[in-house]
Amino acid sequence: MKRISIIGAGLAGSEAALQLADRGFSVRLVEMRPEKGTPVHKTGLCAELVCSNSLKSTKPESAAGMLKAELAALGSQVHAAALDNAVAAGGALAVDREAFARQITQRIQEHPGISLEHAEVRSVQQACEGADAVILASGPLTSDALAESLSQITGSDHMAFYDAAAPIVMADSLDMGKLFRQSRYEDAGGQVGDYLNAPFSREEYEAFIEQLVDADRVIRREFETRDLFQACQPIEEIARKGVDAPRFGTLKPVGLTDPATGRRPWAALQLRAEDAHGESYNLVGFQTNLTFPEQKRVFRMIPGLEQAEFARYGVMHRNTFINAPKLLTPELRLRSTGGVDVPVFVAGQLAGTEGYCEAIRSGLHAALHVAALLGGVEAPQLPVETAFGALLAYATDPDTVDYQPMHVNFGIMEPLEQRIRNKGQRYAAYAERGSQALGRYCDELRACGLLGCAGEA
Ligand code: FAD
Repeated sequence: MKRISIIGAGLAGSEAALQLADRGFSVRLVEMRPEKGTPVHKTGLCAELVCSNSLKSTKPESAAGMLKAELAALGSQVHAAALDNAVAAGGALAVDREAFARQITQRIQEHPGISLEHAEVRSVQQACEGADAVILASGPLTSDALAESLSQITGSDHMAFYDAAAPIVMADSLDMGKLFRQSRYEDAGGQVGDYLNAPFSREEYEAFIEQLVDADRVIRREFETRDLFQACQPIEEIARKGVDAPRFGTLKPVGLTDPATGRRPWAALQLRAEDAHGESYNLVGFQTNLTFPEQKRVFRMIPGLEQAEFARYGVMHRNTFINAPKLLTPELRLRSTGGVDVPVFVAGQLAGTEGYCEAIRSGLHAALHVAALLGGVEAPQLPVETAFGALLAYATDPDTVDYQPMHVNFGIMEPLEQRIRNKGQRYAAYAERGSQALGRYCDELRACGLLGCAGEA
């Protein structure tokens, strides 16, 4: 019988273990808690939720809702446990965290195909001992020794330990009457028009800075802020140094001419396309530690962003993740394992996805591909029209630079063939297209025997 070692019994690792054991593989699941803790986990249970108890929206016409439909269609066991332990939360799926984690832990402990061990795995080589395949699912707080070993295999410049992401806004929510397209120093080698620029007048700038420095911040534990703020200054910290500090850095207007006035603006924010289709834009240099409601309130003061819709808010927290675009295949397998001859897959936040459901879904995806590889089956490709397919395409595109972990959102989805102006109708069209693609994908999985076993819903 083929043996698979899975490191980390979090959301991704628990899902992968249950999926593979149901498919008849022998699974060794190694979790370091409670023997060795992390700064945020509190128990020794599998699939412990580290922060909020919400798994986000269930609305079918939302990206998070699409992802849940995929989890259900593919027979996710962790998602099923979330439904079993749901608590009232309006249009979201929230769970009784302890009952949820207990149910999954019990299922894992009682599964005859899984042996659950509590120990820290200190190297990739150790993970591979006696295994036919390995899934690393040790999460954003991967222990130092294992992270160090992974850096050695992948190259240290392909590992990150902090996540300092700027917000991303949807292109069609921007006021193009106020923004202008221009690269800084156009004639100095830059490609004309790569950036959108939001020009500030002096009054607009000073009003913005006033609100920015007073806005509510996320209270961070000391372990997170200590090194993070040294490595990467949030925009509000820069502004606190002096009203003009951002204007001489992130918001500098040099090399820009506002076509509306024919002059250099007082300050300017640059926005860079986040995806190949220009559906969403990144606020360049706007790493921030503001709370999500405050980001919405304050960043909407930027000229042209008054109605901005956020595809992703900025975050700053401790987060271990690999450079997925350079290191991972769309099957979530490491392209190169530096001499280790066992196939190594990576799932969950360590693979560079963000969010609870994304972690569960990536555990499921890695499990399907491990099952295919060890079973000698050619697995179908996940369509990019599905929510996770879109995320995978984005996260494993070798052309993506400066990768920051991402959750599913409409900004990274392949644009619809026909543009639909009405937002509700557009989202419904994305969901409908995704659902059809998902149906075809499930049929293909069934045809090659990868779906249809005990794990199927
Ligand atoms: P985890 O669920 O963390 O599981 C990884 C497991 O691996 C852990 O149990 C850990 O103990 C174990 N492990 C680590 N190293 C080793 C080792 N060497 N040997 C053996 N075991 C090991 N997402 C949301 O959607 N909502 C939120 O509210 C949210 N809050 C977050 C708050 C923080 C502080 C962080 C860091 C992340 C948060 N996330 C949130 C992002 C992400 O969705 C979660 O971190 C999610 O739990 C990731 O799932 P995972 O399976 O990748 O990792």
